Amino acid sequence: MKVQVRKGDTFWYYSNLFNVPLTLIIDSNPDSDPKTLQIGDTVHIPGYQVSYYKVQKGDTFWRLASERRLALDMLALLNPNESPRNLQVGQTLRIPVQVGFRIVDGRQAYDFDVLTKHLKELLDTYPFIRTEKIGQSVMGKDLLELQIGHGSKVVHWNGSFHANEWITTATIMQFLNDYLIALTNKEPIRGLDVSPYYEQVTLSIVPMVDPDGVNLVLQGPPKGPFGEEALRINNGNEDFSGWKANIRGVDLNNQFPAKWEVEAERKPKKPRYRDFPGEKPLTEPEAIAMAELAQARQFEKMLAFHTQGEVIYWGYEGKEPPRAFTIVNEFRRVSGYEPIRYVDSYAGYKDWFIKVYERPGFTVELGEGTNPLPISQFDEIYQETIGIFLASLYM
Ligand SMILES: [Zn+2]
Repeated sequence: MKVQVRKGDTFWYYSNLFNVPLTLIIDSNPDSDPKTLQIGDTVHIPGYQVSYYKVQKGDTFWRLASERRLALDMLALLNPNESPRNLQVGQTLRIPVQVGFRIVDGRQAYDFDVLTKHLKELLDTYPFIRTEKIGQSVMGKDLLELQIGHGSKVVHWNGSFHANEWITTATIMQFLNDYLIALTNKEPIRGLDVSPYYEQVTLSIVPMVDPDGVNLVLQGPPKGPFGEEALRINNGNEDFSGWKANIRGVDLNNQFPAKWEVEAERKPKKPRYRDFPGEKPLTEPEAIAMAELAQARQFEKMLAFHTQGEVIYWGYEGKEPPRAFTIVNEFRRVSGYEPIRYVDSYAGYKDWFIKVYERPGFTVELGEGTNPLPISQFDEIYQETIGIFLASLYM
């Protein structure tokens, strides 16, 4: 929601009037200097939307405000040209509405288009989210990183490294929405006050690492050469529900230089719906973008969300720090997911991250059953995962 600065208004005043943390108002207006606000400047108030109301007989600002438990000055601020004592029947007023509902509903086929739509709405309502374009997919879709908070501790989450595991994106996005509501409205999540994490943590999220693959799974092959090639790789089969790779048939979670040769030796030698590690490490733009991001951000910890199995992989060749064990035990406590230290599988993002940085890195396998998990599992998966998201912030 946007408001126009009046004489005497300050960010601090808006913070009190709307009961929104000052730091979120400052971060929602990166181009404004709070010290030099001018009358008529536009200021974003996060966590509010505007609804419109037609004045009826007998309405006054005071009555409209008290019925809605709003401060009288909110109505004055949003309707600067209306005379509070002389409302006309039928005229339209702007009424602020604090957003306590989710914009993101994860219970749907969560393709790149749904993600894009939800992101736009979240950015409108919570302009303190920062977005960074970290690269492009094979077909040219923007790979986006979202950042929330400005702590020195950078915690990274990513989803949909594997195309038919797109339910991980839905899970991350719905939790992000809940986190934004909790920060803005000063509400706890599962009894935990999350407001300190905005200052302590920079949350880095890449919600969909393989957007071309996700759309292939959910929408079928796109028109043009990439779709034709994917269809050929899939032996002419129009059903892509088993597809984990990117649009070129390279498994992005087999692309990283951490015993890549071991995987290359025993995995498929040409593009396939899953497991082909590429001709060499880091040939695919999605994998390159993720490697460069880790280098640029220096994640304090990293969580890659996959499906399925209700397990958490947390080791690589003894390079994982002792603290990873403490963290994974907390993840186990809050989710019931089983930690697994080593597994005979390499060249994943988690493997490479631990190998290079020797910091805590996790592959979190959400849900039970066989991939692709049905969306009917979403609510259960979401409940299991909330604790892991929170623990990654406070551990
Ligand atoms: Zn996976």
